[in-house]
Amino acid sequence: MSKVLIHPATYNDVRLAVNQAFEIFPLPLKGKKVLIKPNVLRASEAKESIVTNPAVLRAVVDKVEELGASSIVVGDNPGLFDYGANEQSFIKTGLMEASKGHYQNIGDDSVRVGFIAEFLPSVSVSRAVMEADVIISLPKFKTHGLTVMTGAIKNSYGILPGAQKAMLHKAAGSPGRFHEVVVEVFRLRVPDLFIVDAVVGMEGNGPASPDLRDIGLILASDNAVAMDSVIATMMGLEPGRLRFLQKAKEAGLGDYDLDTIEVIGELKRLPDFKLPPLGGEVLLQNEAIQQMIHSRTVLRPKADPDQCTGCGTCVDHCPVSALSIGDKSIPQVDDGVCIACFCCQEMCPEKAIALR
Ligand code: SF4
Ligand code: SF4
Repeated sequence: MSKVLIHPATYNDVRLAVNQAFEIFPLPLKGKKVLIKPNVLRASEAKESIVTNPAVLRAVVDKVEELGASSIVVGDNPGLFDYGANEQSFIKTGLMEASKGHYQNIGDDSVRVGFIAEFLPSVSVSRAVMEADVIISLPKFKTHGLTVMTGAIKNSYGILPGAQKAMLHKAAGSPGRFHEVVVEVFRLRVPDLFIVDAVVGMEGNGPASPDLRDIGLILASDNAVAMDSVIATMMGLEPGRLRFLQKAKEAGLGDYDLDTIEVIGELKRLPDFKLPPLGGEVLLQNEAIQQMIHSRTVLRPKADPDQCTGCGTCVDHCPVSALSIGDKSIPQVDDGVCIACFCCQEMCPEKAIALR
């Protein structure tokens, strides 16, 4: 039976929860090479809660040092908007300082590994990920337009450096298939422990939404499927209807059924939690219905003219070149080309794009 810890916390006393996580999920770290992977979606202020809070990272680094790891690497590959600005992303978020000198740009060196031929025959994974003895993943409790939520499994998408994230979005071609891609990337190297920053979470139009939610919790588990099942339940979702959790269960990575999970703490649904717009599109009915919904739903990005600065970032990074700057100097989408990958929403520095 998998266990999930739910522990009250603030950013001032977060080490109490972190210590409890290491007690319940002990890791023999003495003499081991440890990689700690926060969620560093992009360069942003810690108070925006787009990334794992530095207080959580700091407490984990302190604990791993105390347990005698032979080497510690703190690293991530930021999303498309900032994949060329790894160091700056860590500095701006405060995660560089919290790394206590263990930061490494893990996007600089990678190894090629076989992948799933129908998506890409091989992908590059950060060498630090593949060579670590132990990986500790530090996801952020957030919504996500394409996967509904981002937690333990989705945090591993950051083991891919550079523009591969966009290439895989394109190769997937639909939200349902993208869920499969996320699980396949996760399987390349399953982390050993997950400690989720749910002190301040995100709801609404994640993963870079301004709608923050005071939750006041740290969550932990050594099983990602159980961990994400608990997060989904807190968000008011039925875990078994999330396509990526179904895929993960089929792959033998764990079980989302709450009857198979020992919850240490109090599991409560967050009242009136705001899910992403049209998040139901990616809930699993079956593949045929899912494809039908996808093809008939007009789910396309739309820039808010009051917020858009016309910077063109979204246009430059759309993996299928579906965007262009229109007459009013704001991006226009070609509905027939757009694959609803949500990359433009994720990358927009002004948070000007919503999926409608
Ligand atoms: S929508 Fe965002 S990324 Fe696109 S042009 Fe406007 S401000 Fe730039
Ligand atoms: S327009 Fe946006 S949602 Fe559509 S394919 Fe391009 S990046 Fe993805």
